[in-house]
Amino acid sequence: MRTAIISDIHANYEALSAVLEIVERLKTDRCVCLGDLVGYGASPNESVQAVRERAEFSILGNHDAAIVGRMSLDFYYDTAREALEWTAQSLTPENDAYLRSLPYVREERDICWVHGEPERPEAFNYVYTLPQARRLAGAYERLKPVTFVGHSHLRRVFVVEPNGALELPTDNLTLNAERKYVVAVGSVGQPRDNDPRAAFAIFDEQTRRVEFYRVDYDVDRAAEKILKAGLPQFFAHRLYSGA
Ligand code: ZN
Repeated sequence: MRTAIISDIHANYEALSAVLEIVERLKTDRCVCLGDLVGYGASPNESVQAVRERAEFSILGNHDAAIVGRMSLDFYYDTAREALEWTAQSLTPENDAYLRSLPYVREERDICWVHGEPERPEAFNYVYTLPQARRLAGAYERLKPVTFVGHSHLRRVFVVEPNGALELPTDNLTLNAERKYVVAVGSVGQPRDNDPRAAFAIFDEQTRRVEFYRVDYDVDRAAEKILKAGLPQFFAHRLYSGA
């Protein structure tokens, strides 16, 4: 089973459709989404619709939760809140209902799928630094052999051990069946690692291989739509730098 893993689309339909086109060509068995389908970008309905059609399931992200009233908007800085309010007003009832239905976490065989830190998924804590990964050592027994996360918009690979954690380079890698990993897959629609290309990953359960991908997409069009919608300009500008 080869699974394409997408996350943090943030209503960037141009990035999402470019990724889905590559996913199709790579002939994966399915696609799953780790949340934050909306917020920041100008194409919430197109993006949610595409995830509904193409992903086997999606997890709830913090932006999704805020939009459907499952989390307080006070958590967000002003411009992010502005985008969330715009999104809440733009969503069709079907897409709103879909976000409302998403789970905080999903466990399958030896995999955990979650937006942020897996111990308290509803708190949406981050796992992208070594100290954050080390905090999971206390939960070692409860961790699945591999936990895939989004949320930070960064690509990271950690090995969690009973007494600590270590960080691995974010190259393609084969997971050791004896160890426990937390893998952050990066963001489709708003990368923050100074690379504007859309990020996603593929996991092969048989070979235990994780492959990371970057995809060029029409940044101009995504940025133009944000400006045209009257959303904060910053969300358009940052797409060019991927920061
Ligand atoms: Zn996000």
